[in-house]
Amino acid sequence: MPKIVRMNLLRRYPIAFILMALVIVSALAPLPPLVDAVTGAPPYDVDLTRPALYTLLAPVSDLLDALTFLSVGRAWWFLLVWVVGLAVWGLVRSGSRPRRLLRATLGPLAVVALGVAAVLLPRPVVQLAPADSTLTVIDYHAHTAASHDGRPGWTARDLARWHAAQGFGASYVTDHNAIFDDDTTGYPIPLLPGVEWSVYGQHVVALGPVTMIDRAAYNRDTPGMLGLFAALHRQGAIGLASLPEYWRNHWDDLDRFVTAGVDGFEIVNCAPKALAFPAAARTRVLELARAHDLLVVGASDNHGWGRATCVWNLSSPSAHGYRANRVLARPIALAQADWQPWTAAYTQPWLMLRGLSWSERSSWLTWILVILSSGPSPIPCSTRCCPTSCRSAGCGRRRNAAVVAMRAR
Ligand SMILES: [Zn+2]
Repeated sequence: MPKIVRMNLLRRYPIAFILMALVIVSALAPLPPLVDAVTGAPPYDVDLTRPALYTLLAPVSDLLDALTFLSVGRAWWFLLVWVVGLAVWGLVRSGSRPRRLLRATLGPLAVVALGVAAVLLPRPVVQLAPADSTLTVIDYHAHTAASHDGRPGWTARDLARWHAAQGFGASYVTDHNAIFDDDTTGYPIPLLPGVEWSVYGQHVVALGPVTMIDRAAYNRDTPGMLGLFAALHRQGAIGLASLPEYWRNHWDDLDRFVTAGVDGFEIVNCAPKALAFPAAARTRVLELARAHDLLVVGASDNHGWGRATCVWNLSSPSAHGYRANRVLARPIALAQADWQPWTAAYTQPWLMLRGLSWSERSSWLTWILVILSSGPSPIPCSTRCCPTSCRSAGCGRRRNAAVVAMRAR
């Protein structure tokens, strides 16, 4: 094995042991794989199944999922702290100048590469499996390349595959100001007609038999925008208020949304800009929705970027309004609003480790042990002493003798 590889493995030992300790200690404060976004309790009638490859590659799978579920603010802090931290660490470590510069470049590049992989790399994903087969696992809000910010080439069939892989049985397609009503015969799951209208600081997810509107009429002011809900009802469609817009731009108008006929609110949206929606705000919206028997939903808001959803809906055909839908979310996604953005560099890995199943923990520990055992055994000091790293008394004496001899010369 080349010397540089041997040295790298040796230097990784303390990190590997700290990582093993964290994987074990985090099990003392476990997070459930899913929580009901309304009650906050883990659901006991659904399973989150992990494909064998997902568990086998758990360190990669979990890391890429954790990067996918960062809010925008936390993503920037995560990137900043790790990039700067690894660059500084690479520079201050011992070694020749070129080697230190190489380390200071490769560390930050690895962080950026992980971020790109989280967004683009195909990989195994977890799948929701409800025990009750009469419930439909559904997504109310997702995009294709027909949206201006959709991934180029991201077709409706790609979207259907993306949903099916994660256990969805149906999804509405809600491109920005572009109605979806394609025939989806032969697709992995049915895709349902919809659109996401952008009107006066608000995005309204319109579901059902939507038809074209003149957006200018709803784009002038808040009362004008609120008129869209009645227009959708006339079309036989329903309108949901999307995150983060109603929280950011219309927080004081929510009662007027209800009066105007809004059919429901998103309470979880996986888009990074919406993941910072705080729990207290969610509680207020839930109270409003409960009082007026309105739908509350989760939205993947997938645009073709990122492989994993942070939320699923269980739609019940026999119920109506508030009780018609259950929103099941990944705790790490809901926790984005609980932590200050600047803590993301350590709170995101910690949330990830707390959320590991036992099979994932076993995979993590196995990988760490495999990497450790693939390195050479440390060279005993008694036979050959490393002048800078060895702390034994014998080595100390040898170093001192070498210094004395050098000075004597
Ligand atoms: Zn959207």
